[in-house]
Amino acid sequence: MTRRILIAGNWKMNTRSASAVELAKAVVAKVGENPKVDVALCPPSVYLAAVADVVAGTPVGLGSQNVYAADDGAYTGEVNASMLTDVGCRYVILGHSERRAILGETDAMISEKLHAALAGNLVPIVCVGETLEDREAGNTEKVVETQIRGSLAGLDEVRAAGIVIAYEPVWAIGTGKTASPEQAEEVHAFLRKLLGEIFSADVADQIVIQYGGSVKPGNAKELLGQPNIDGALVGGAALKAEDFIGIIEPA
Ligand code: PGA
Repeated sequence: MTRRILIAGNWKMNTRSASAVELAKAVVAKVGENPKVDVALCPPSVYLAAVADVVAGTPVGLGSQNVYAADDGAYTGEVNASMLTDVGCRYVILGHSERRAILGETDAMISEKLHAALAGNLVPIVCVGETLEDREAGNTEKVVETQIRGSLAGLDEVRAAGIVIAYEPVWAIGTGKTASPEQAEEVHAFLRKLLGEIFSADVADQIVIQYGGSVKPGNAKELLGQPNIDGALVGGAALKAEDFIGIIEPA
């Protein structure tokens, strides 16, 4: 099974209308018409439409950093999957550790969002990862297993094959500390085995598992060279076109 590599830029709560468009234009120009890998940009929701205009008709995909429900309703301040596809999104990041830690997102909430995303034909990028405390206590596998089982609750095999998982150790996010390729591969292999148990070996083989946490041009090639690492979810380095391209090019 050859899975396609997916490099996604998670811009988090950064950029303004002009800089978002400028960054997207620079990425689109460098990615060209036939990239060997899949590329996605995930700007803040207020800039999705502006970035959608830039990436329209190019191989660069658009992603949201969050979604609330599948369709319309009285949920002040939230956006739904139908709005995201309407504006041109293909992907949605779910359960990022910042949302889990700061906004109190639970696995049950993430599972609801997953079903909302799939109902809207979005590709969910489901984030999991352990804290430093978890890792030092030897609980990495237990923590990510609980997150996977909870976040993917109620998902059937057919739809599971099309989702993306992002393994992002919390201690490596925005810290400059990257998991070594061996450390990352160990967890990715564990996740693939777990997905095989939950769904089937064949489905697990199709699921793209990205690594995230201080990915930069200098460490991307080695990380992406691991057999179970199928891409990167990039934060800080996605805010500079040349860094982001420096991750895509060797991939
Ligand atoms: P980072 O963020 O690349 O800045 O560590 C990754 C992420 O949080 O998705």
